[in-house]
Amino acid sequence: DILTFDDFLIHWVTEKPNGPALMEADRAQSYADLEETTAKIATMLLNSGLKKGDRIVWIGKNSDLYFSLFYGAARAGIVMVPVGWRLAPSEWAYIVNDTQARLVFTGAEFDQVETALAAAVPHVERFIGEQAARQQIAATARSAFEASGPDDAVLQLYTSGTTGNPKGAVLSNRNLFALRKNSADLDLAYTRWDADEVVLVAMPCAHIGGTGLGIMAIASGLPALVLSEFTPDGVFDAIENRGVTRLFVVPAALHIMLQHPRCTSVDYSRLRYILYGAAPMPLELLRQSIAVFGAEFIQVYGMTETTGTIVMLPPEDHDPNGNARMRSAGKPLPGVQIRIVDENHADLPLGQVGEIWTCSSNNMIGYWNLPDATESTMAQGGWIKTGDAGYLDEDGYLFIHDRVKDMIISGGENVYPAEVESAIFGHPDVLEVAVIGVPDDKWGEAVKAVCVPKSGCEIQEDSVIAWARERIAGFKVPRSVDVIPALPRNASGKILRKDLRAPYWEGRD
Ligand code: ATP
Ligand code: MG
Repeated sequence: DILTFDDFLIHWVTEKPNGPALMEADRAQSYADLEETTAKIATMLLNSGLKKGDRIVWIGKNSDLYFSLFYGAARAGIVMVPVGWRLAPSEWAYIVNDTQARLVFTGAEFDQVETALAAAVPHVERFIGEQAARQQIAATARSAFEASGPDDAVLQLYTSGTTGNPKGAVLSNRNLFALRKNSADLDLAYTRWDADEVVLVAMPCAHIGGTGLGIMAIASGLPALVLSEFTPDGVFDAIENRGVTRLFVVPAALHIMLQHPRCTSVDYSRLRYILYGAAPMPLELLRQSIAVFGAEFIQVYGMTETTGTIVMLPPEDHDPNGNARMRSAGKPLPGVQIRIVDENHADLPLGQVGEIWTCSSNNMIGYWNLPDATESTMAQGGWIKTGDAGYLDEDGYLFIHDRVKDMIISGGENVYPAEVESAIFGHPDVLEVAVIGVPDDKWGEAVKAVCVPKSGCEIQEDSVIAWARERIAGFKVPRSVDVIPALPRNASGKILRKDLRAPYWEGRD
């Protein structure tokens, strides 16, 4: 079985030693180069006294160095922990302390991390900047080391912190690779990776959508082109000049791309697939994106705890002419089981909304240092409770409503914010919208829409309410509309509904 990165390396170094594996700006490594670099990195880490199971940290933008370090560490069973560069120093310190790492690697432009953190993270012996790391790797003579096994931890990714504190999900080789043994199997999993693709890593590597995509591309024999951070221009340039065939973006990033003046004049002829997910996709945004970018669209659903994608909506289910399946997140990948359960953990019939549970070789080992959270998330015989609400239809398609915690109960009816947001999204004056429940004496909770106006537009409450009334059932229509200049989002572009809710609920829940 091919279950570790060493297995993949042997495979691809034999198949195509000179094939490109990892690229950033003007740097490129072939599979043979990557084998050499990662062996040196493994040796370097072991020489500095680290052993299997130890953590190392990366704080920086996306970089080819990050992926080299991840793979080098993974080969020796040392666990990489990428930390979001947009976080505040106190949040860096929280995560670095949580890992007890002795080495912290920092990306270019992040030398200030050492000054900001040194006093707060006493167990860190060394901060190694990008230049120093590259020099040290080059100067290392590789030596033999014991390769990590399928069930050894290799990656610790913190969840996005959308609903609370970020939690460190510990992932093994098997988690990363079991569903994706090689590109032939990927085809089987109807993810349609073609042999000649170039994959753009544009989302932050501290999240599964950035790191997972890069890891999977390289392991599947496809070159990953790393963009230091998401900008519409960076993505457009990569599509036009670097032959990018596939990219993953969150809905908020697609929205930003669509707003950009260059958007309609870019040559998209080589772009084949746009994968999107990580947050609910408003239908109107999807329709606009399909019209403008022309590529094949694939929705992915998953979470950090499931090593990313477990459910996928293929291109043929993206018929913009009213195909009901466009509202679905798709079907489970082969090897992935999905259950829909009620509050008593009993399975619900098809078509009924409950909590989504999942079981597969993608399920994480557990949360780092959080036995209670691990227990409550995965105690049920290997099933992960996703915390998301949804249902399955008779063809096996999963429809996600929203997070269970975000569900609004208004007058005894359940309202899922994502559906209301999707309905309001196309309103001509509305740039962005988030829907929350606010306290209401009569209804328990009342639906409220918080809108950001398009530039030069003014939002009228009546108009938004009337717009929604034409598109969704009466009990889902917002009873009030607030206007704010921008929505609070985390680094993965997700709306922080908990921050929006807080002022309304102060002293109540
Ligand atoms: P935290 O767990 O710290 O609160 P988070 O859940 O946002 O943060 P991630 O693991 O990055 O952290 O995100 C997983 C969640 O993202 C899923 O549980 C789901 O709510 C949402 N999600 C992912 N893909 C989709 C999708 N295709 N459609 C709707 N929601 C999605
Ligand atoms: Mg989560």
